[in-house]
Amino acid sequence: MKDISQNDIQNNVPLVTRKDFQREILVGNSQIGGGIITIIAGPCTVESKTQIFKIAKAVKEAGATMLRGGVFKPLTFPYGDPLGRADADSNGPSRDRKEILSKKELFENAEKRLSYLKEAGEKYGLPVISEILYADSVKMMEKYVDMFQVGYRHMFNMDLIEALSKTEKPILLKRHYGESLRSLLGVAEHYEARGKHNFVFCERGVSVPHTHNVESRAIIDIQAIIALKEYAPSVPVIVDPSHATFKRSYVAGVSRAAIAAGADGLLIEVHPDPENAWVDPLMSLDFNSFAKLVKEIEEIAKILEKK
Ligand code: PEP
Ligand code: MN
Repeated sequence: MKDISQNDIQNNVPLVTRKDFQREILVGNSQIGGGIITIIAGPCTVESKTQIFKIAKAVKEAGATMLRGGVFKPLTFPYGDPLGRADADSNGPSRDRKEILSKKELFENAEKRLSYLKEAGEKYGLPVISEILYADSVKMMEKYVDMFQVGYRHMFNMDLIEALSKTEKPILLKRHYGESLRSLLGVAEHYEARGKHNFVFCERGVSVPHTHNVESRAIIDIQAIIALKEYAPSVPVIVDPSHATFKRSYVAGVSRAAIAAGADGLLIEVHPDPENAWVDPLMSLDFNSFAKLVKEIEEIAKILEKK
């Protein structure tokens, strides 16, 4: 973890590594960081209005503080994009799975799902977050989300960095599984240098030789949580155990470890019927497992004198 030198701190990442800086991250009316544990929960994909309302109710009751829901999905393969499917509330026809939506259709469909996400968040008092893929969707998404998620694939996307630096809304920046903390701090400095200060880091695992096996995924880098707190103490760190482990039975244990190691929160996929989730069925938690996990996190938070 010694990949950041004194020279880097002085010349390359002076702003993000400031020690005496109070960084205020307000998502809606809730704060991230500052001794508060943020639990962001929701489905990989907003499948319908009914689905997202059901999830919002359940995760709120369990103690989540924010609602997540994907609309633009960065899929590994082009087929089966969930936006090509009929809304689960309607019985309309689904697209042929190999038919690619035009960008206009994609945006219209995403906007409809974002409106469900926002309504569900408002109804249950949960600020909402969704992933951005296209720089020209900032204006549209801004009407609905309280926070933007930048996925690991887009960590260095300069169009997104430029566009998101102009928004007031906070950003959750995922570290790519193959990138060092030095690179992550560099990306953060790109935002800082453009006057954008309200971002949080998201650790979603690193790649090791075995993670190239199709059955396996990234390994949550517990040390990274501690190192980021040392290098950039003002930036909250959220951990995503779902996309790192890609395995339901690993999610709770890794979540507990992350909070115990000092993370400021978690980003967890939750679905009423995980096996049948449109995207990421292998690691979504059902409502009971999620509620049990939140209780455990609350106990760990108490020991750490966090709320
Ligand atoms: C997600 O959060 O749904 C997602 C696709 O994340 P990642 O960028 O970590 O793969
Ligand atoms: Mn997912």
